[in-house]
Amino acid sequence: MICELIDARKVYPMGDLEVVALKGVSVGVEAGEFTVFAGPSGSGKSTALNLIGCLDRPSSGKVKVDGRDVEALGDNALGEVRARRIGFIFQSFNLVPVLTAAENVDLALRLAGINEGRADRVEQSLVDVGLKDYMGRRPAQLSGGQQQRVAIARALVKRPAIVIADEPTANLDSVNAEAILDLMRDMNERDGATFLFSTHDPMVMGRARRVVRLKDGEIVADERK
Ligand code: ADP
Ligand code: MG
Repeated sequence: MICELIDARKVYPMGDLEVVALKGVSVGVEAGEFTVFAGPSGSGKSTALNLIGCLDRPSSGKVKVDGRDVEALGDNALGEVRARRIGFIFQSFNLVPVLTAAENVDLALRLAGINEGRADRVEQSLVDVGLKDYMGRRPAQLSGGQQQRVAIARALVKRPAIVIADEPTANLDSVNAEAILDLMRDMNERDGATFLFSTHDPMVMGRARRVVRLKDGEIVADERK
């Protein structure tokens, strides 16, 4: 199992109240899977991805990445797991606006402490997402679909154990959304990269090999195709 939630519960304080975003969820992802967390808005998809992506810690229960218990790691070690082992693709891309596409991708390598062959790796990962001729452009000079491709290249350049994408098609039109899904499936099939993403888009669910359905912070179905 490449990553795992074990009876993970997440409670967010909201003034005097508490929001229970995950009610003790257990789910594991195997290396090479192409899995989607599906469910309506507010069902806990982003919370679950943030826990697996080591961006947040559970209120109780366990998170394991690469077989390591995330709870036992200090903040520095956790940051290292996040930088080296996980490629996170955010819904709104989160590219650095003053950096070019190539510099954005390179930054991920620098943050992961990877120095060897950096320029070649940056170029190859941008070629892989079809952006060979756009490496010197800044995010504002790229379309939404192209920005999402840069975000994918940035996530993949580290060759992470797992690529996590929170609603990767939410900010794209349907043509770009399908192209991005095809690209991720190609990378999954060609390189065996593990993909885990969230969506409430039926097109995206249709392309996943495994659909884990969440509702009100609980898993209500887990289907493999
Ligand atoms: P989804 O991604 O499926 O839309 P989320 O994981 O974002 O669901 O949210 C699950 C629940 O937790 C929702 O009720 C949401 O309002 C709440 N929630 C998410 N993040 C926070 C937060 N930082 N503070 C308070 N409540 C939150
Ligand atoms: Mg969400």
